Amino acid sequence: MKKIGITETVLRDAHQSLIATRMPIEDMLPILNKLDQVGYYSLECWGGATFDACLRFLNEDPWERLRIIRKNCPNTKLQMLFRGQNMLGYRHYADDVLEYFVQRSVANGIDIIRIFDALNDLKNLKVAIKAAKKEGAHAQVAISYTTGPVFTHEYYVDYAKRIEETGADSICIKDMAALLTPYETYDIVKAIKAAVKIPVQLHTHYTSGLASMCELKAVEAGVDMLDTAMSPLALGTSHTPTESIVAALKGTDYDTGLDLVLLNEIREYFMTLREKYIKSGLLDPKMLAVNTKALIYQVPGGMLSNLLSQLKQAGKADKLEEVMQEVPRVRKDAGYPPLVTPTSQIVGTQAVYNVITGERYKMCTNEFKDLIAGKYGTTPLPVDEEFAKKIIGDTERITCRPADLLEPELESLRKECAQWIEQEEDVLSYAQFPKVATDFFKKRAEKKYGIDGKHADAEEKIHPV
Ligand code: MN
Repeated sequence: MKKIGITETVLRDAHQSLIATRMPIEDMLPILNKLDQVGYYSLECWGGATFDACLRFLNEDPWERLRIIRKNCPNTKLQMLFRGQNMLGYRHYADDVLEYFVQRSVANGIDIIRIFDALNDLKNLKVAIKAAKKEGAHAQVAISYTTGPVFTHEYYVDYAKRIEETGADSICIKDMAALLTPYETYDIVKAIKAAVKIPVQLHTHYTSGLASMCELKAVEAGVDMLDTAMSPLALGTSHTPTESIVAALKGTDYDTGLDLVLLNEIREYFMTLREKYIKSGLLDPKMLAVNTKALIYQVPGGMLSNLLSQLKQAGKADKLEEVMQEVPRVRKDAGYPPLVTPTSQIVGTQAVYNVITGERYKMCTNEFKDLIAGKYGTTPLPVDEEFAKKIIGDTERITCRPADLLEPELESLRKECAQWIEQEEDVLSYAQFPKVATDFFKKRAEKKYGIDGKHADAEEKIHPV
């Protein structure tokens, strides 16, 4: 009998996909003890966009969030999503910063690090895998799943084999854009399982309405773990409901062993949150609908909600359809990168520019130029020479590991933010989001010392533990 492991995503990807990552620790705290009792394979609760959202929108220290979750979930493996050499930011970082980030993440409570590269360029993953192993964490490497020329079963099997050779502990098929269909899932899981010995996990999204069928076919094909989300924050651009998968496999050879009664108690808590988010406008019911456009445009859930909110802010919500049609064209021009952070933002923003200015590539973002110049790594297909010339002129294109071009930068970063440092992890917040982190540090200092610089008599406890 094979027990299927369940990774609960309600504290990370579910709210990243549905409410632009705005769930604060206060909304998690009351349910952490119960989540810890479930017996999940792991609880995905950190990394991805949560770090940025904590500092930028929630005035919350992401490191403190991790420590609180760790303290309240002593029995469950905590999992984070990590963008390889991009860490949780949007550029490549020098190896010394990356190694320090991994060290502090594990020291503060992370057990499993899911590492991926947007271009599936293994060069960009090697240092992160090594760092995770060195700190005693489980290094899971995620394959960014996409479709298009070159993305054949052979491509994925070959990549999976090369991942196993790096010493990774498991593989995740990361279908961030909900492109998988049930029988394709079966075939790809079967092929990868036959090629590697390490466990294989499936991560997909409900966007196109196929996720639960895909997960069931993955189970039949031998998958070891699945990602799901508690039902009040499942479906739509999020994931398969945890309770449904648990019920579907109950009493079969694949039983998850999880208790539906306990899950129902947790569901009730998240239902009240869901209602609160709908009432405040944070949860747009549109996001909960099945949208098969994802199958046409290859746009991940998080990107879809971001594009919509970007266009809304610019008063151009009516251009969504045009932008969605431009995205695959930009992607083709850029050598077919899978669309996942940061390439989803790079391609998405360029598509917005192309539509709003009325002329394709009249204005290019620096990030788009860097992508074309090879500064994010090797794209799955080569970029057309003539197109590259149009975008970056005579700037030289690179083919080495991009981080090889970076000097160690931890010490200079430490100096830059020295006046704000209250904990050793602060330099890592600063490294990834210099301006946003500094604003956060300022607010934190004001809170602690008062605007006049005098230490407040009693520090307000905002996070009862
Ligand atoms: Mn995802």
